[in-house]
Amino acid sequence: MDSYLQILEKDFLNRNDIITLLSLNKEQAKNLFKKSEEIKLKYVGNKVYYRGLIEMSNICRKDCYYCGIRRSNKKVSRYELEDKQILDACEYCYKNDFGSIVLQGGERNDKIFVDRISNLLKEIKKLSNNELGVTLSLGEQTLETFKKWKEAGVHRYLLRIEESNRDLYKKLHPDNQIHSFDERLESLYYLKETGYQVGSGFMIGLPFQTVENLADDLIFLQNFDIDMVGMGPYIEHKDTPLYKYKAQLWSLEERLFMSFKMYAVLRIMMKDINIAATTALQTIDPMGRERVIRFAANVLMPNVTPAVVRKNYQLYENKPCTDEGADDCLDCLKSRLKLVNAEIGLNEWGDSKHYYNRNKTEDN
Ligand code: SF4
Repeated sequence: MDSYLQILEKDFLNRNDIITLLSLNKEQAKNLFKKSEEIKLKYVGNKVYYRGLIEMSNICRKDCYYCGIRRSNKKVSRYELEDKQILDACEYCYKNDFGSIVLQGGERNDKIFVDRISNLLKEIKKLSNNELGVTLSLGEQTLETFKKWKEAGVHRYLLRIEESNRDLYKKLHPDNQIHSFDERLESLYYLKETGYQVGSGFMIGLPFQTVENLADDLIFLQNFDIDMVGMGPYIEHKDTPLYKYKAQLWSLEERLFMSFKMYAVLRIMMKDINIAATTALQTIDPMGRERVIRFAANVLMPNVTPAVVRKNYQLYENKPCTDEGADDCLDCLKSRLKLVNAEIGLNEWGDSKHYYNRNKTEDN
């Protein structure tokens, strides 16, 4: 069996290699992070790209067992931003040279919603002279809807698989058609077929999840040839069904450490993709996002949702910056990024290099 240092010199990691790397202790993991940092700097550089995150609504048709804004949680105060609030947030991003925004919300697929998003996309493009890049994260949709939204101006879409193991996925969701693993997968294929830059990801440290599951999650992303990834530690929410397994969970510190290793192994496996440093990392460690930016991630999503509704978008508990205005967040981010020598790619879309590389290969 190869030692972990030999594994770090390999071009291609097999399942056993990945499991070995995910099992490293803190001292050994320093070499993993060093290797990942080398690869990151070589393939995607030290720039980090902003995506202004707008959480447009916490109304969702789904009931995922891990999520604080699931349909059955009656303790949540539901909101939906008005078009003007969304467009104002986009303008803020445009004026502050963000380059891109992410429009995220609970899942809906009714006609009123689909048409509203199409109109909003056109308005966002208009207010920014077609300059703001847009990513959507609005759940599963039909092929027709994905096409419609693409024509209206969006070019990136984030749809987390949340867990790539079919049996484990079933334990995390109600057993019915609207929570079907196959439909989620199908949506990911629709996105690829429509020509989006496709993002996915999952939670790390879920109840029942093993290191082997996590290795398979990484292999899933590689086999799907994904362009962008958003993944982060699972953080339990007391008003969800999964909360009853709290005692079985890894400690928060263990989940954070495993997340760091997942980021590093993913960067080694998929050298030219975009990887987002997600907010859940910051919930456990105030410098969590910046730490992964140093060695693996190259995308950051500052929250620009109006502060007045932000506390109602808690997919998990203790989400940071829920009381702050957009400016507060921006200022703290800027100074933290300096600490990890990351350069902000202002006014740039910061698209996934992998997307262009895979299309070049497919065209040849
Ligand atoms: S995880 Fe997403 S789809 Fe599931 S309940 Fe929460 S917002 Fe809805």
